[in-house]
Amino acid sequence: MSDHLIQTIDLSKIYGSGETAVHALDAVTLTVGYGEFVAIMGPSGCGKSTLLNMLGALDQPTTGEVWVAGENVAKLKNVDDFRAQTVGFIFQLHNLLPTLTALENVEVPMQGRVGSGRERRDRAHHLLTLVGLAPRAKHLPNQLSGGQRQRIAIARALANNPKLVLADEPTGALDSQSGEEILQLLGELNRSEGTTIAVVTHDRRVAQATQRILRMQDGRIVEDHRVSDPLEEDLRALAFSKLGETILDPHDAPMQEVTPEEEAILRKLITRLRQ
Ligand code: ADP
Repeated sequence: MSDHLIQTIDLSKIYGSGETAVHALDAVTLTVGYGEFVAIMGPSGCGKSTLLNMLGALDQPTTGEVWVAGENVAKLKNVDDFRAQTVGFIFQLHNLLPTLTALENVEVPMQGRVGSGRERRDRAHHLLTLVGLAPRAKHLPNQLSGGQRQRIAIARALANNPKLVLADEPTGALDSQSGEEILQLLGELNRSEGTTIAVVTHDRRVAQATQRILRMQDGRIVEDHRVSDPLEEDLRALAFSKLGETILDPHDAPMQEVTPEEEAILRKLITRLRQ
């Protein structure tokens, strides 16, 4: 078996044609090993979701190849099995079925795949325990908080013990504390279960909780680095911010206002440098 769980080779995706064609992905070549926890960052429209969708066989490449767990995703014999068993998805909005309980929502992806009803129920209970929600097993989604619903979505994504979990802005709709908890949970799953996780995020704190950050721009990966100490991460965030761009090229862009986030980083950096 290859050392890599994910491999993309010259992966491109063009939506539309002629003058209106959008190059959502432009010759992306990427490998991700088993057990990695990777963040995909970059401005809106740079191709993050398109890449995630290709990895999960939700969309087809225009050119290039995607390999996941040794299989060429364009040539899968059974796409439904791949989506149900090899990958688990977590979206910004959890998409739980409103008329089913927490436990039943977790059981759904196992139907027809995991042994008896009893076995499915036991596994769903185990997964709800893993995400800290066993006591809410019989609740309906609308009886739970946003953070709790997202935990159930995580349990559901793990139902068939996937090799790869793909998460698209999983903390995007949550308050910062719930977002923090979801993040800790994903980190724990990565460490304890060895699940490979790729998470699309705008949130620098989310990205810094992973091991590796891929930064995209205009359909390409423009930076690929291992997460290091917080000061260096702050410096990188600043370097890639609007302010960083303006400082590099003051003639092109008029001086932008400093955002509260940039200001916080600058304050931290200056404090550290003065110590
Ligand atoms: P991100 O997730 O980084 O915000 P996306 O991957 O969603 O970016 O989109 C990348 C580009 O592809 C954008 O310009 C977007 O408008 C375009 N795009 C995405 N999906 C479609 C689609 N189904 N049809 C046409 N254009 C699309």
